[in-house]
Amino acid sequence: MPKPPSTQPTIQPTIHPSIPPTTHPPYDLLYLSPHLDDVALSCGGQIFQHTQAGRRVLIVTVTAGEPEVDPPGHISDYARSLHERWALLADAVAGRRAEDGLACALLGADFLHLDVADCIYRLHSQTGQPFYVSDGDLFGPVHPAEAGLVARLAARFGALPAAGEVVIPLGVGNHVDHQITRLAAEQVWGTGELVYYEDYPYAQQPGAVDRIISKQSGKWRSQAIPVTPAGMEAKLQSILAFRSQISTFWADEADLRRQVGGYAERQWKMENGKWRMANFGVHDAPSSTHPIT
Ligand SMILES: [Zn+2]
Repeated sequence: MPKPPSTQPTIQPTIHPSIPPTTHPPYDLLYLSPHLDDVALSCGGQIFQHTQAGRRVLIVTVTAGEPEVDPPGHISDYARSLHERWALLADAVAGRRAEDGLACALLGADFLHLDVADCIYRLHSQTGQPFYVSDGDLFGPVHPAEAGLVARLAARFGALPAAGEVVIPLGVGNHVDHQITRLAAEQVWGTGELVYYEDYPYAQQPGAVDRIISKQSGKWRSQAIPVTPAGMEAKLQSILAFRSQISTFWADEADLRRQVGGYAERQWKMENGKWRMANFGVHDAPSSTHPIT
C-alpha cells in the first residue's frame, strides 16, 4: 500500500536494546553474519574449535532488527509467506534472535545484534514500498536507494570491538543482505585485510563459488578448515537451534546432518593476505580460484 513521502531515515543501526551486551573485548576473531543463522551454518565448526582453544569470538548479526512497517503489522505478502514457512507468525524476529542466543552459546561465542531489518522488511523511505518482494529480488542487485544503508552500516562496523581477524561473507548466492554486509565491511577494513567465508548452504550449489570468485579483481586463494567430530556436532546443534529455519533448507534433521556433515568449511583471502589464525588447526589448500571439495 502506498505511503506518503517521508523524510525519516530508513535505518539507524544500533545494538538492539533488548539484548544484553555479551561483549568481552578484545577479540581474537570477529564474524559478521548477515542473518541470524549464516555464521552458524557457514563457520560453526571452526568457531567451536576456536573457542575450545581459548580464543575469544564475537558474532555480529546485521539484520536482527524489527520490520519496518507502517502501519505496524502490515508486512508484505512475500514476508508473510516466509513467516508461514518459518512457523513464526507472531514476533518472528524476536523468535529468531532467541534462537541465535542459544546457537552462539553452543559455539562458545559472544554475540551482538544490530537493528537493521531483514531486506524482506525494508521499505523505500520515499514511497513506503518494500524494496524486495520476490526470490528474484532477494538474489538480484542491491537497490540503488540502499546506498545510504551501506554507509550507515560501515559506520556501525567501525565502532565494533577490536578483533585480531575479521571474517565476513564472500556473498555466494548473491543475497542482497550478504552483499550489503560485505560492501560495508570492505569500506571499513579493506579487501586485503579481510577473511571471507563461503556462504552455506548456497556454497554447496555446483558452480556457485566459482561464479563469485571469477568476478573478483586480483588473485584469491582458499583454505579448507578441518572440523573435528566434536566441532561438527557443536555446529549441528547450533544449526538445530534455529528451529524456524530448518524447513527452508532441509527436509528434516537427518537431511540437515547429511548435507552439513558432508560440507567442508572454506575461507578465501586475497593472494597477498595472511591468515592470522592459520596456525590453529587450519591447513592451506593449494592456491586456486576453484574450491577443492
Ligand atoms: Zn543469510
